[in-house]
Amino acid sequence: MRAACATIHLTALRANLALLRSRAPASRLMAVVKADGYGHGLERVARALATADAFGVASIADGLRLRAAGAAQRIVVLSGPDELGDLAELRRLRLDAVIHHEAQLELLAAETDPRPLRVWLKLDSGMHRLGFPAARAREVHARLRAMPGVDPDIVLMTHFANSDVFDDAQTLRQIECFTQAVAGLGATTSLANSAAILGWPAAHGDWLRAGGALYGMSVSEGSSGADFGLQAAMTLATRLVAINRVSKGARIGYGATWEAPEDMDIGVAAVGYGDGYPRSASAGTPVLVGGRRAQLIGRVSMDLITLDLRGHADARIGDPVVLWGQGLAVEEVAAHAGTIAYDLTCGVTRRVMFAEDDLQAPA
Ligand SMILES: *Cc1c(COP(=O)(O)O)cnc(C)c1O
Repeated sequence: MRAACATIHLTALRANLALLRSRAPASRLMAVVKADGYGHGLERVARALATADAFGVASIADGLRLRAAGAAQRIVVLSGPDELGDLAELRRLRLDAVIHHEAQLELLAAETDPRPLRVWLKLDSGMHRLGFPAARAREVHARLRAMPGVDPDIVLMTHFANSDVFDDAQTLRQIECFTQAVAGLGATTSLANSAAILGWPAAHGDWLRAGGALYGMSVSEGSSGADFGLQAAMTLATRLVAINRVSKGARIGYGATWEAPEDMDIGVAAVGYGDGYPRSASAGTPVLVGGRRAQLIGRVSMDLITLDLRGHADARIGDPVVLWGQGLAVEEVAAHAGTIAYDLTCGVTRRVMFAEDDLQAPA
């Protein structure tokens, strides 16, 4: 059996939810669980966060999985329907649809099903990815309200491009643009992702949409989730499978990229890019061996990594090696791999064993 294991800390998920709620107590909270709960497991996260007011998913298929797992709250499909058949499926599963494009209005106008579909109307306030131009809010809102198959309680939403930079004027402009566009419509609103929940109180609105922070990940560059009081919800760990003595000048691993500066012990741990450990992780990326820091050396292979065991004379085959999570911020590992924390947790592959724990994180 391979040793790589991702432990999901259910207590951390619940603590992070409580922290986010405490920051915006007047708002309802949608737990965003796209990409299999940011790699933590869709059903597992939904069970741990059963008190969320809604779930946000990227596909109808994920909505189906959540309904099958017993989720009864609102489930919002964040990119909405692509074809006519999607509308029937959204209704059958009682999923809310985000409507962001003219083509989707045409789908809605072309159908005759009178069962009310719950709609979130997405406005582009400056990110320029999905959404109707904010200036069209009134007109599109009126068209949707006139459709017999659309529930009249439409949520108006927008998404921020740069809310993780807390002094960036772009977010202020987006808040202003959205606020003007929806003024007087008396509609329910939703603006805030994780970073905006923690950093932009003016953007809380009626519905929060929390993703990364629920999983304990940082919401601003150069910091870790712990800096915001968040707890890591995933620990990826494996074991040492070999300890080898090499001589000064020995070159380690594929490409012979790392040269031993002295006679030393090399540790080999059972994890690699086949498990989702990033191949781009460079020499010097931290890991924990037996709870203490050590460094990656040489290239990451599919199944294995090599570690500098100088200063770890007590290390033994079978010792636990933590790749990220409790005790080692995933943000720090991501920085060494030239990516962001979300990318690492989403990238854990299917061959990794998943476990759950319900224990309080060590202080
Ligand atoms: C993914 C997503 C979120 C959550 O973003 P985080 O930064 O992870 O909190 C919120 N809203 C929309 C529309 C999203 O796609």
